[in-house]
Amino acid sequence: MEPVEQQVHSELVHSDSTAKDESSNPSTASAAVAPARPERRSKARTWDTPPAPVPPPHLDDYKSIVGEAEIDELKFLARELKGKKVKMVNSTAVGGGVAEMLNQLVPLLRELEVQTHWDVITGGNDFFEVTKAFHNALQGSDYDLTQHARDIFLMHNEQNRERIEFSEDFIVIHDPQPAALIRAERRQSQRWVWRCHIDLSSPNPSVWGFLRPFIERYDAAIFSSQSFARQLPIPQYLFYPCIDPLSEKNKDVEESFIQQVCDEFGIDRSRPIVTQVSRFDRAKDPVGVVQAFKQARKYVDCQLVLAGGGASDDPEGAAVLAEVKEAVGDDPDIIILDLPPWCALQINALQRASTIVVQKSIREGFGLTVTEALWKGKPTIAGAVGGIPNQIIHKLTGALVHSVDGCAYQIRYLLTHPDFARQLGQNGHEHVKENFLMSTNVRRWLLLLRILQAGGAK
Ligand code: UDP
Repeated sequence: MEPVEQQVHSELVHSDSTAKDESSNPSTASAAVAPARPERRSKARTWDTPPAPVPPPHLDDYKSIVGEAEIDELKFLARELKGKKVKMVNSTAVGGGVAEMLNQLVPLLRELEVQTHWDVITGGNDFFEVTKAFHNALQGSDYDLTQHARDIFLMHNEQNRERIEFSEDFIVIHDPQPAALIRAERRQSQRWVWRCHIDLSSPNPSVWGFLRPFIERYDAAIFSSQSFARQLPIPQYLFYPCIDPLSEKNKDVEESFIQQVCDEFGIDRSRPIVTQVSRFDRAKDPVGVVQAFKQARKYVDCQLVLAGGGASDDPEGAAVLAEVKEAVGDDPDIIILDLPPWCALQINALQRASTIVVQKSIREGFGLTVTEALWKGKPTIAGAVGGIPNQIIHKLTGALVHSVDGCAYQIRYLLTHPDFARQLGQNGHEHVKENFLMSTNVRRWLLLLRILQAGGAK
């Protein structure tokens, strides 16, 4: 056996006894009557290094997806903003949905001749520990806000305020981490916008009480869902998050590539495939997905793919993964995949290979995995939390669930009613096309900038 094969073998998550026998004693394999179940892997043999970055798309590339009229409309809206300067500020250049979205949005605004610049705040571990705690507390976790945490937050915001120049016409601050940058003295004509990507519906009162005075100084706030917003004395706007239909995660891929990805992981495409793509996080309820799948599988043949990543460098993720493995036991129909963060194309293929996509979250932001699945025309079952009900209109663009039993019922129902499932998938695709694509997001930005420019807001 080649060393690399040994390594792959040690990464097998589940293989049935036939496969085990085959690998340990090749001479018995040819005698097997039933075809061997494909070898199961949790990690791919290939794709172990990040691919070269793909250049961002151009506006005209979207014409084939949304039509020429929509792109012309963007160019028309941008005319009044030509030469205006925008600064976007967030807390990370890579990883996470906000950075991914800015990577697409900034070049598109530039192409429309809105001079957009993107800055990332810096800070030590102490700052990011505090902001992570704030992030969780603002989404409802218990947290004891100390004076020390306040001081660290303000000190790093102050340092970034001194480091970054704020001379643009529009300053857009993303999320709570850099929210206190608004303390800068500003030109009268300058407009500041706070783009909140998280769910503020029931924040920890002390953290929100601390941040709120900063937010109230902005000219406008943007939330991702009606249900995430708070009462504020400034105008609020609703910007749904979006996906890029031309990105590696969402673009069309060759059927042969989908097959290659399934072969790589031992996924049997002749049987229904139920998939959840998610970090191993309790909010995504992967254990609930396993339980629902096991209930449904009593009545209908199917396999479950749980594709996640990052558990190895996140202690909580590793604990959740262990719980999931415990719930899976030695079930040969459940495949757990631990993918590196650069596997967008492989996730795309897994979503496309799926018969049904599940996102059984019990807490959620907007739930981009749902958007991705709907875009691919997949019948999607998801928890009725966070921004998911904006995307899934029950029984029209997908199925909303509130429990393990509900999820099991919907898996079983959709697998046994393929025409209905197909219709849900088609409706879901249209809903995303209308509301959650990058081109729509650009239009919202252009409209908001024009409103602000005209002296609207505050
Ligand atoms: N994702 C990924 N690899 C994984 C798990 C998730 O690339 O192993 C992607 C997924 O396709 C989606 C994003 O990460 O684009 C997750 O966004 P979502 O809003 O669903 O959840 P979050 O992780 O931000 O809570």
